[in-house]
Amino acid sequence: MKYLKYIIFISILMFIQSVYSNKIQYRLDSPYKPKKNVYKGQLHCHTLRSDGKHSPEQVMGFYYKAGYNFLVFTEHNQLGRRVIPAIIHKSPYKNFIMIPGYEIFSEGHRRPYFYMHHILGIGITKIPPMKGAQYVIDYINKHGGIPILCHPEWRGGFHYTLSTLEKLRGYMHIERTVKWDYLLSKGKKVFMIRSDDFHALKYRHFNKGFVMVYSDKLDQKNILKNIKSGNFYSSNGAIIKSIKVEHDRITIEAPRKSYIAFHCFAGCRVYAKWRVKNLTYKIEGNESYIRARVRYKVNGRYRYAETNPIFIRR
Ligand SMILES: [Zn+2]
Ligand SMILES: [Zn+2]
Repeated sequence: MKYLKYIIFISILMFIQSVYSNKIQYRLDSPYKPKKNVYKGQLHCHTLRSDGKHSPEQVMGFYYKAGYNFLVFTEHNQLGRRVIPAIIHKSPYKNFIMIPGYEIFSEGHRRPYFYMHHILGIGITKIPPMKGAQYVIDYINKHGGIPILCHPEWRGGFHYTLSTLEKLRGYMHIERTVKWDYLLSKGKKVFMIRSDDFHALKYRHFNKGFVMVYSDKLDQKNILKNIKSGNFYSSNGAIIKSIKVEHDRITIEAPRKSYIAFHCFAGCRVYAKWRVKNLTYKIEGNESYIRARVRYKVNGRYRYAETNPIFIRR
């Protein structure tokens, strides 16, 4: 009985600790897995084979010289009444590969093409019949490709409405959109890509949007696997030196002094600092996701790099 008072004392201490710690149990669902290398890629561009203004050889040369490691020609599968078969191009360069793909208009000729949904099929040559967007997404998935919803804000924002984006299933990739945080807040697991949708040098949208993909090897299989799982970040010129996700911390390292910000919920900024080379966010457990953004000036203009979301699951 002489230990009874100690047992009571320890029990009271444990009770007080449990009341005050009130720790939220969660697990992280992060797309970021350590890989040996990072590769720069362009997932959306056109050549003379559809409505681009340069030959495939020229376009490969442009991107190779701009430091890219992989490129996808995403010709419109159908322009006017002409069906363009997807073909696989061979890269003439070292450390530069071509991945097959296309851009689909989701429905037939009943409406003008800008009313249709445009969907990229990456890593695939088999072209779906001209049906609705959900059919096209399912078809691309079924045949081992990656569906990416294109330019959601095109034509004043009605290209993909909020309700369409919510309703569609089976896609995990979308081109840059202000609707991204809305989708994430609704619980959709969606990764964002930036691309050029390149058509001609004179339109000045060359090397303005790209992805940096973490991968052990530069081959189609590994690049596609890591794009699919979200192991990449998107950029319009800025670079992220490293993304570390461990236990309850996310650390972003920039190559130079930058503005680094962490966002969650409906895009709200939860933590940010100016002129830092790295910044760590400590997870509290009640966030639904966290994504980071790095901003610094390149040739006098602010450029951005954005990570994919790291989900906090409870
Ligand atoms: Zn398009
Ligand atoms: Zn396009």
